[in-house]
Amino acid sequence: MDDCIFCRIIAGDLPSTRIHEDDRAIVIMDINPATPGHALVIPRAHARDISDISEDDLGHCAVVAKQIAARAMSGLDAQGVTIMQSNGAAAWQTVFHYHVHVIPRYDDDPLVLPWNPRSAAAGDIIEISKAYFQH
Ligand code: AMP
Ligand code: ZN
Repeated sequence: MDDCIFCRIIAGDLPSTRIHEDDRAIVIMDINPATPGHALVIPRAHARDISDISEDDLGHCAVVAKQIAARAMSGLDAQGVTIMQSNGAAAWQTVFHYHVHVIPRYDDDPLVLPWNPRSAAAGDIIEISKAYFQH
């Protein structure tokens, strides 16, 4: 995947600041951090998104994200951690190699919830739920 930024980082062709690596995944610091300490868990095997990644790599990335979250809480004195993972341009994915954002959260950080919680009619919620059973 010569045109994939994260494959090139994994190969060592592009620089990164690594805070973890193992045989399945690496963790690098995000170059445009949402908050101080923002990190990305990236599987070594190229996969576009959640529909493409193997379940083994998916599970491993979740475990590594948990470990990085714990390190954020202890090492950075974060008060919380947001785990974010986008699939598809409509979901804000911009790098099409699966990755998990580990974003340390601080009481005074500037992040805001990206949606406005609004109630919906119970019937509408039940109706849309039926679509999950269609293939
Ligand atoms: P997403 O928009 O969810 O696909 O996330 C992609 C993330 O990758 C963004 O937060 C970018 O700031 C980050 N990013 C892009 N290029 C690099 C790079 N060369 N090194 C580190 N992070 C990067
Ligand atoms: Zn890639």
